[in-house]
Amino acid sequence: MCGIVGYIGEQQAYPILIKGLHRLEYRGYDSAGVSLISENGDLNVYKAKGKVVALENGCKGQDLTGTIGIAHTRWATHGEPNQVNAHPHYSESRNLALVHNGIIENYKALRTELENNGMTFCSETDTEVLVQLIEYMMKSHNCDLFEGVQLALKNVIGAYAIAILEKKNPDQLVCARKGSPLVIGVAKKSDGHVEFFLGSDATPIIEYTNQVVYLKDEQIAIMDRKGRLDIVNLSSVHQTPQLDTLQLNLDQIEKGGFPHFMLKEIWEQPNALRTCIRGRLNPTDKDVILSGVLDHQDRFLNCRRIIICACGTSWHSALIGKYFIEEACQIPVEVEYASEFRYRNPVIFPDDIVIAVSQSGETADTLAAIELAKEKGAFLYGVCNVIGSSIPRATNSGTYLHVGPEIGVASTKAFTGQVITLSMLGLAIAKVRKTLSDDMFHMLVDELYQIPDKMQWTLENNKGIDKFAERFTYCKNFLYLGRGYNYPVALEGALKLKEISYIHAEGYPAAEMKHGPIALVDEEMPVVVVAPKHGMYEKVVSNIQEIKSRGGKIISVITEGDTTVKEMSDYYFTIPDTRDCYVPLLAVIPLQLLSYYVAVTKGRNVDQPRNLAKSVTVE
Ligand code: GLU
Repeated sequence: MCGIVGYIGEQQAYPILIKGLHRLEYRGYDSAGVSLISENGDLNVYKAKGKVVALENGCKGQDLTGTIGIAHTRWATHGEPNQVNAHPHYSESRNLALVHNGIIENYKALRTELENNGMTFCSETDTEVLVQLIEYMMKSHNCDLFEGVQLALKNVIGAYAIAILEKKNPDQLVCARKGSPLVIGVAKKSDGHVEFFLGSDATPIIEYTNQVVYLKDEQIAIMDRKGRLDIVNLSSVHQTPQLDTLQLNLDQIEKGGFPHFMLKEIWEQPNALRTCIRGRLNPTDKDVILSGVLDHQDRFLNCRRIIICACGTSWHSALIGKYFIEEACQIPVEVEYASEFRYRNPVIFPDDIVIAVSQSGETADTLAAIELAKEKGAFLYGVCNVIGSSIPRATNSGTYLHVGPEIGVASTKAFTGQVITLSMLGLAIAKVRKTLSDDMFHMLVDELYQIPDKMQWTLENNKGIDKFAERFTYCKNFLYLGRGYNYPVALEGALKLKEISYIHAEGYPAAEMKHGPIALVDEEMPVVVVAPKHGMYEKVVSNIQEIKSRGGKIISVITEGDTTVKEMSDYYFTIPDTRDCYVPLLAVIPLQLLSYYVAVTKGRNVDQPRNLAKSVTVE
C-alpha cells in the first residue's frame, strides 16, 4: 500500500506534495514524510508518525523551499510505524532520499551484505536497504543515479514503486516500478515549460494535468527540468512514453458536502450503477452488450469452468457472481481467495476462464493469482474499477466498473458495482451459451435495469438508521445471517461493521447457525437477518424463530409489504421487491448505513479505520 507523490517543475513543491498525500492517505496513514531539495541545495527530509496532518505540524518553521520533492504516506509492512521507519529514507551519505511502496523480499540478505561492506542502517524497514544499495552501486561502479538504480533493482526480489531525489543533481527526479503502481503526470504550460507530477494513482495529479504515463513493470523513468522524460527498462532498452488522457475529474475525488467519503459513496451508488450499466444494458432491446465478452465469444462458449479470484469485499461480490453465473450459464464457478490460490499449485485448465475482481486493479495477491493462471494458459478476465491499473493490463479482456474513484477505505459502491458487473457478465455469457430462454433473459435484463432506481428508494426510505444505530454502539458482537444470494450479503455486512466500528461480527449462512454460532445468542446479541420475500423465505422465518426463542435481538432486512418478519423483528429495514438474484444489490445498502452510523457514533475514523488501507498492493 503506501502512497507516493513527487514533483519537479517551477512551482514550490511542498504544497503540491502535501495536497497529494492527503489524496493518497486512503492507501496508508500510519506515518508520512516529505523530502525537498531546498533553494540552498540541501536535501531535507521531514517525517512524522501518524497522519499527514502530523507531518504538516512537524514541518512548521522548517525550510520548505524547493521546486523538486517526493513524499510518502505509509502503511507499514517492515518495521513498526514510527518516525524513524517513516519514508523518505536517506542513503548513508545523505546524497539520496527515497520513497517506496511495496516489499523487498530479499532485504535481509541484501542488508547483511551491505553491512558487511561497512554500511550502517537507521531503520528496520526493507526500504532503507534499497536506498543504501543504490548508493553502494553508484559508488562501487562509479556511475550515475540512473545506472545505480538499474543495478540495484536487478538485485532486488519483490515489489516496488520508488521515487528518488539526489542532492547533487537537483534537476532530475528518478522513479521506477515493479508490481506497485506509479503514474507520471505531464503538464505542458503555455510558455513551453513542462512540469512532472508523480502519484501512486492519478488523484494527486488530476488538478494539474490530464496527460499521464502509466509506468510499466521494470521501467525506470527520469524526468528533468528541461521537460525531458526518459523511460528505460532494466535491460537498458529505451521505451517510448505512452501518453494517456485521464477520465477523472476533481469533483469525483472530493467529499461534496458529505461528512465522510464513505457516506458520499453509499449515496452515490444509484448514479454510480447507472454509469456502470450505461451502454451495456439496453432496456429497449432488452439486451446486454459487454465488449469484453463479445470480442472473445469462443472462449466463453468453450470454457470448461470459471474461477474467480478476489480478496476481502471483492471476494463477497465474487461469491454472488458465482451463484448468478452458475444459475444463468450452467458453468461450474469456483471462488478463490487469491492469497490462497496463488500458493497452492491449483489445477487450472487451458480452457478455464479466470476472473480477477479488484476495485483498485492493484491487489497484489489477485495480480499474482492471475499471473499464475496465465502461465497455465487460462483466459484472464478483469473486473476492476481503476482504469489503466495493473490487473486490466495483465488480463486478456475485462469490464471496468465505471463507478468513479472510491476513496473510503471500506468498500461500498465498488461492491455493488462489482455485483452488477458480474450480473451483466453472467447475462452476456448466458447469451453466448444460449442457456436462458428469451423470456427469462429479457426479464433479467429489465429487472437489472431497474436496480439503480430501487437503490435510490432504499436509501430514501431508510433514513432513520442514524438514530437507531446509537442503541447498538455498546454491543460487543453481531451475527449476520442470510441464505442463498444473501449469504454473501451477511458476510459483507459483518465485514463492514468490523472494518470501521471494530465490533466483532460474523456472517453465516442462516441454516448453519444451529451448527455452532447459536451458542453465542443471548439478550446481548443483535442478529441481523437478510430476509427478503424470496426463495427460502419460510426457512429464514424459522431461523428467526430459533434466535428469538433464545432471546436474541432481530434486526431484519425485509421486502416492502412483508408483515410476518416485520412483526418478529425488533428493528427492520425495508427494500423494494426484486428478483432473488438481485436482492444483494439492495439488501447491502441498509447494512452499509448501519455499520457507518454505528462507527460514527463510536467516534471511529470511518474513512481511515485503524490498521487498514485501501488498495492492498502488498502480500
Ligand atoms: N515495505 C515498506 C515499509 O514497510 C513499504 C510498505 C508499503 O508499501 O506498504 O516501509
